[in-house]
Amino acid sequence: MSTTPRLTSPDRVVYPDAAITKADVADYYRAVSRWMLPELVRRPLSLVRCPDGLAGSCFFQKHHADSLGEHVGSITLREVEGRGEYLYVEDLDGVLELVQMNSLEFHVWGSHIDHVEKPDRVVFDLDPDEGIEWNALKAAAREIRDRLAELRLRSWVRLSGGKGVHVVVPIRPGPDWSQVKAFCEAFADSMVAKAPERYIATASKAKREGLIFIDWLRNSRGATSVASWSLRAKPGATVAMPLTWEELGRVRQAGAFDLPRALRRSRNLKRDPWHAMHRARQGLPDRV
Ligand code: ATP
Ligand code: MN
Repeated sequence: MSTTPRLTSPDRVVYPDAAITKADVADYYRAVSRWMLPELVRRPLSLVRCPDGLAGSCFFQKHHADSLGEHVGSITLREVEGRGEYLYVEDLDGVLELVQMNSLEFHVWGSHIDHVEKPDRVVFDLDPDEGIEWNALKAAAREIRDRLAELRLRSWVRLSGGKGVHVVVPIRPGPDWSQVKAFCEAFADSMVAKAPERYIATASKAKREGLIFIDWLRNSRGATSVASWSLRAKPGATVAMPLTWEELGRVRQAGAFDLPRALRRSRNLKRDPWHAMHRARQGLPDRV
């Protein structure tokens, strides 16, 4: 029998700097679920849990546990060695059970549990080195959008709620992870080849000085990216926020939306800024 998720310790302070409690976090996810769930449901999910709020330590969790709640699904997936139980949610009840277990961040795979070996989207994560101007980061996101458009791929943009932005490209399920990853690597390399004074596509931190790292490794099997509307477990309670490309022009930083601002946006939003993405059916090109 199914029960409504309960919330214990609702008054526990989760974000001390912003005076945000566990009940506030639950209310937040309830309020934005209309916008958040389309991306979240039925994708393998990883969590950032903070049992004592930001005052204590947080941990990243990718495996299922029965204690997470009865609305939290589990799926057995192949790992590098053996198999592991992964988790996913179907609905708001699942999200609220994870909040009850002190989850703050929700990170998703690039595929659904219904076809886990066939990714249905790729994410280019743009990470600016210190000193990169926000306007330069926006220009980079737009350049990637335009270059993708030349390949007949429409893309969507999100503020990470941290330092950078994500450019997200839905694709028709078909190619496997290795094919998708190869495309992403080739695409990132082509961006670097054109503007090595601005971009880097290798993970080595030492060489990143003054550059924007185009992280294509998010598109490996098992890698995740933060879900839109997820809170970040960072001071200030910033939110990963999906935008229209037009809106990006008016935003001043990757952490532009904190919890109250995200709530306000959620209330005023007439339509999902990514509404057309959920219907896009784009084939992965053979070459970049
Ligand atoms: P920013 O814009 O600040 O770069 P981001 O969301 O792009 O924010 P991070 O917050 O640095 O990037 O997160 C890195 C990614 O790696 C996350 O999206 C998450 O899916 C994954 N990740 C984070 N912590 C761990 C961990 N402990 N183990 C495995 N993967 C992790
Ligand atoms: Mn990033």
